[in-house]
Amino acid sequence: MLLALSILLLVFPASLSAPARDRCTRGRNKLLLISFDGFRWDYDRDVDTPNLDKMAVDGVKAAYVTPPYLTITSPSHFTLLSGRYIENHGVIHNVWFNTTTRQRKEYYMTQFVDDYWDNGTLPIWITAQRQGLKTGSLHFPGTAATYQNETVQEREVEPRAYDYTNETAWKENVDKVMKDWFKEQDLDFVTLYFGDPDESGHKHGPDSPERREAVKKVDRTVGYIRETAEKLGLSDHMNIIITADHGMSTVFKGDQVKEIVLTDIPGFSYKDLQFHLLDYGPTAMLLPKEGLLDKVYNALKGGHPNLHIYKKEDMPARLHYSKHPRLLPIILYADPGYVISGFYPLQNNKGEHGYDNEVMDMKPFFRAVGPDFHKNLLVGPFETVNIYPLMCHLIGIKPEINDGSLENTQHMLISNGETCDSGDDPKSSLQNVFIGLAAVVGFVFLAFVVVTSYNGYKKHKLYSKEIEKGYEDEMQGDSKQTSF
Ligand SMILES: [Zn+2]
Repeated sequence: MLLALSILLLVFPASLSAPARDRCTRGRNKLLLISFDGFRWDYDRDVDTPNLDKMAVDGVKAAYVTPPYLTITSPSHFTLLSGRYIENHGVIHNVWFNTTTRQRKEYYMTQFVDDYWDNGTLPIWITAQRQGLKTGSLHFPGTAATYQNETVQEREVEPRAYDYTNETAWKENVDKVMKDWFKEQDLDFVTLYFGDPDESGHKHGPDSPERREAVKKVDRTVGYIRETAEKLGLSDHMNIIITADHGMSTVFKGDQVKEIVLTDIPGFSYKDLQFHLLDYGPTAMLLPKEGLLDKVYNALKGGHPNLHIYKKEDMPARLHYSKHPRLLPIILYADPGYVISGFYPLQNNKGEHGYDNEVMDMKPFFRAVGPDFHKNLLVGPFETVNIYPLMCHLIGIKPEINDGSLENTQHMLISNGETCDSGDDPKSSLQNVFIGLAAVVGFVFLAFVVVTSYNGYKKHKLYSKEIEKGYEDEMQGDSKQTSF
């Protein structure tokens, strides 16, 4: 009996746990990727965030993640969608520009320039659709564009002058994604974008009460998203990843601060430039007129102690921001706290991003929860190029060429990155037979426990009675006979 019991105890836990939690990723769970623009990795430290805390207990929290350089919205979001560094995907700035006509389009209008986005790199929506999945995107940068004649299947692009901070609108957007798209239309993968705490971080600074209020709003929204998933019966087959494109750093103000104004630097002149992207925070790009590259470069080199200037081919390789033909020949960036101005310091933001991605203030947060993720797991930092292969694995699609690796995130998964074999695979069938057998044996064992307990109980009652009657010897003999 002991032998049988030992075998059963070995088999039983497997038969109980196997159907509930796979040791491999089946790629059948839905996936929601959410970006809260400008949510710095440590924004939950000075604000009560019960819903984000609960999400960390129920899932995975990374210490922080490293965005690609340039740490601004459109380029960094396209890295999330493609797993490629910015010099490889070519969405190099929030601003579209033409150096010949000197035309520029700001962030919103750039969303509609198809060939700016459709530049040889496919975002995950299109790849997933080509592999038979249904996808959607709400307000995520890149949503409006057409890629190789295809758009994301379900999409909502915000109207011009949209208020990215309105909490009521946020809830409506969540309802649309969860109820209409995931529940009713049964979409497999959706990306969802929110424009705060970026706005409050710029306007009031990352250490302001307004930014802390925005984080509370994010937290309430995360709670609402998970509550809605639960109510709609989605949470047991939906993974949710929450992250951001970059962080935020306080801009130094006051008389003590020596502002970076290019026309204050001796030898620099606008007349030497064919085109420039100046007054966009801490980063700038210049196209000097023909034959004047060295003149402009040498004038600016050493022009301000907090200004870094590079010919594009000399940009530090770790930044992955030098190879793309769209990048202009001279790239400038400022140290944290500084912005780069052309004629005059006109930039009034109290918070900025766009700095070196090694600067801790530029690091976003990362949380994940769902059936494929471990619970209550804190992991170390990783680069956001790795989120793309993770997402492809979760939804069971073959990724395009990318700069990330599943190896950098698979420790967050219950499967440790293993993909399940298909249902008719012999190995899988054998596993099913084993699980079935284990269940039968388990049932027999249960029946045995119940029957012997009942017999024991009966016997005990009888035994007590028989003792009273003085038949003790006879009953002991009987008990041996009924045992194994
Ligand atoms: Zn911003």
